[in-house]
Amino acid sequence: MSLRAFLSSRVVTPDGVRPAAVLVEGEQIRGVVSADRLSAGTQTHDFGDAAILPGLVDSHVHINDPGRADWEGFETATRSAAAGGYTVLVDMPLNCLPATTDVGALTAKRAAALDRCRVDWMAWGGVVAGNQSEIEPLAAAGVVGFKCFLVHPGIDGFTMVTEQELRSALPAIARTGLPLLAHAELPDPIDLATENLRDSDWTDYETYLQSRPEEAELSAIRMLLSLCREYKFRLHIVHLSASAALPELRRARSEGLAVSVETCPHYLHFSADEIPKRGTIFKCAPPIRGRENRERLWEGLRDGTIDLVATDHSPCPPEMKRLAEGTFRNVWGGIASLSMALSVMHTEASKRGFSLNDIAHWMAEAPAKLAGCDARKGRIASGYDADFVVFEPESEFVVREERLHYRHPISAYLGETLCGVVKATYLRGAVVYQGGEFPSEAVGQEYRR
Ligand SMILES: [Zn+2]
Repeated sequence: MSLRAFLSSRVVTPDGVRPAAVLVEGEQIRGVVSADRLSAGTQTHDFGDAAILPGLVDSHVHINDPGRADWEGFETATRSAAAGGYTVLVDMPLNCLPATTDVGALTAKRAAALDRCRVDWMAWGGVVAGNQSEIEPLAAAGVVGFKCFLVHPGIDGFTMVTEQELRSALPAIARTGLPLLAHAELPDPIDLATENLRDSDWTDYETYLQSRPEEAELSAIRMLLSLCREYKFRLHIVHLSASAALPELRRARSEGLAVSVETCPHYLHFSADEIPKRGTIFKCAPPIRGRENRERLWEGLRDGTIDLVATDHSPCPPEMKRLAEGTFRNVWGGIASLSMALSVMHTEASKRGFSLNDIAHWMAEAPAKLAGCDARKGRIASGYDADFVVFEPESEFVVREERLHYRHPISAYLGETLCGVVKATYLRGAVVYQGGEFPSEAVGQEYRR
């Protein structure tokens, strides 16, 4: 098979950002070499000063298919992923119907995904009340880890687990060696706060924020860390919002517990004081908190207490955000951002002195490791899949509906000016996105360990 070379003055490799040629043969990277070492006749694609980053891996996405494909679906989610520079999505076990809590449901998801994906994908399994006996069969069938909720997930079809129910599942989870991803909020602090806010104005974001206090996250994380000590499983905290938990997480890591942490672009970009009255498009759980909290999350990324950034892309039909009515109490909580996340992160990270290398670590290498696809995904290096993003870091654009590419073009980011444009995305050597177009067929596949 013939060699192709992808050239740029800024190739983001595990050893740093440098001018190089990425050699691709078929679907794989064969090497990263200096451009003057290319042999004559090699087919070249010269991207000049646009950066080449590894294809991003999003370890936290709600594709909602099968069952709620009118909310999103494999075609639209993977299309917006390709437009955003992602080459692997790891789908959450809920919002789809049936929820991925047994092998039959995983089979149904595979059927829904077949021949409809523009990027590669993987599946998390679910831990719910009463499916302990399904955990090892799900692992054998190919889920890459498990997700549980310690609080009501806000949707039917997936149940939360109590500490007792979680305890009965943990021995099986530990035996699989796969990570347990936890939505870390406990119900009691939320229920108490919500009761006290009964007569408050729920069109104010502040009311919603007060209803989900940091204490809910803190108490859940404390419980999970102590279970992690006891049962010795791999624990991953999804979408950390409360920076107050960072000191405890830091200590847990220094004592050697197998714990990893993620946060999301919306917690790193927005702050509570900017969210307008009736701005239900910003509702997510845990909530976007204050400005100082946001800056402490950035410090968590800087010192490595937070390992990775995932989108928690969780779209819904516009009517479920009840934008006209604007009360935060009962609307769907979830922020969709697959096609924007890299630009959002670059805009914010570059202001704080971070590099493209940091972004590649948070958004490609570390999530690939969490999902167990790091033998072939998440790096530009010999032997890896030829997955990469061509990115113009200095170009600015305004977020408009036509750039979103997921099913319902609503977004908390509409109208914002962001810095950094995805020009093209390559999946296993094939161009899956280029300048607003999707040239390839649906060549995405399930990545199997
Ligand atoms: Zn989620």
